[in-house]
Amino acid sequence: MKPEIKRRKFLSALGLGLAGTTTVIANQFNGGLGTKDCIHKVSDTIKITNIKTYVHPQALFVKIETDAGVIGWGEGDHDNPKIIAKIVREVCKPYLLHQDPFQSEYLWHTILYRGEDLGLSGALTGALAGIDNALWDLKGKLLDFPVYKLLGGAKVEKIKVYGSFGVKNGKKSISEAQNMAANFIDTGYDTVKLRMQIRVLKRNPEDDITEKYVKAVREVIGDENTLFVDFNNGYTPGKAIDLIKKLYEKYNIQLVEEPVHYLDYEGLKQCVDQSPIRIGAGEHQFNRWDFKNLIVKGNADVLNLDLIKGGGLSEMKKIAALAMTFEKEIMCHNARPTLATAATLHFIASIFNPARVQEYGGTRPKLKLGKLFENNFKFENGHLYVPQNPGLGLKVNEKEMSKYLDT
Ligand SMILES: [Mg+2]
Repeated sequence: MKPEIKRRKFLSALGLGLAGTTTVIANQFNGGLGTKDCIHKVSDTIKITNIKTYVHPQALFVKIETDAGVIGWGEGDHDNPKIIAKIVREVCKPYLLHQDPFQSEYLWHTILYRGEDLGLSGALTGALAGIDNALWDLKGKLLDFPVYKLLGGAKVEKIKVYGSFGVKNGKKSISEAQNMAANFIDTGYDTVKLRMQIRVLKRNPEDDITEKYVKAVREVIGDENTLFVDFNNGYTPGKAIDLIKKLYEKYNIQLVEEPVHYLDYEGLKQCVDQSPIRIGAGEHQFNRWDFKNLIVKGNADVLNLDLIKGGGLSEMKKIAALAMTFEKEIMCHNARPTLATAATLHFIASIFNPARVQEYGGTRPKLKLGKLFENNFKFENGHLYVPQNPGLGLKVNEKEMSKYLDT
């Protein structure tokens, strides 16, 4: 059967209530536990036929092929991308081949626990993110719906974003920082985030430049715009608290991100308890248990979920629900104009507790990722529009992408 005919037959079968095209199987969680208690109807018409990985110097992509001829594209963790790609192919792929892509929840947990000795957080969830996002893209394309609708998306057409830029712990000059901030304001943003990128290895720098950069950026964006500062794990709790108070009083910063080591939950809580402004964290937390610690032990005000590192859309939806029970806001970690942004927009459009502004780094031409896609996001007046095409909404330029096939 030709792929398009098979896909059409699949859609038509859905419209007819799946009669004659479905099987009834036992829930496969817990080894098929409870055939009497939990019976699931699932489509049996589409099967995964191949998984491919693409390693660009700045990104990692996963392609899932099916016997319907429909393809799903996802983005995974771009740090150590060759290793992540290998995990996708060697650890994850065997559990995906010949499987129904609609069983994504089952597939996700199977891979997590079959690969558990790699660790449930980090490289494995970075690989799972690429797969899970590709499965959602695929499901959207098979059903002709944008992903946010499949996720229960709310009535939101566009999402307010803030301009995010890094200064590499002073490697980018103060005037460069001012230019980047001013460019964001000139193109319609009213909020920017200065990422100091100090990191744990350079913690508590002797020549601390954070105040100089904050002062300079505040000068160019004016008092009417909002300024966030990312300490990028650059301080121990006492020093972080002093600096937060000083920057708030002198420069009216409105949010600080990752003030201390990402696993120092007690230190984070000290900062939260003593800070006059909101504290965000979460870009180093990659699964529901990490976020449980961040919420219960660290008490972060704002949770920075990363859709391409933390297991993908499926896991992030669970974390958003967990966060809701603690009245925490979700502000995704995302500064890449790729499928990462696409997944983030669909996700934010589908949850009930997003922060009022989300991270975006702009088109970032220096990353050379733009050629990989045939369309782009609609940006207007500090807002990104939620893609309306089936799936995640970005069309991959297959010819360009093929240059980065990793085997
Ligand atoms: Mg950050």
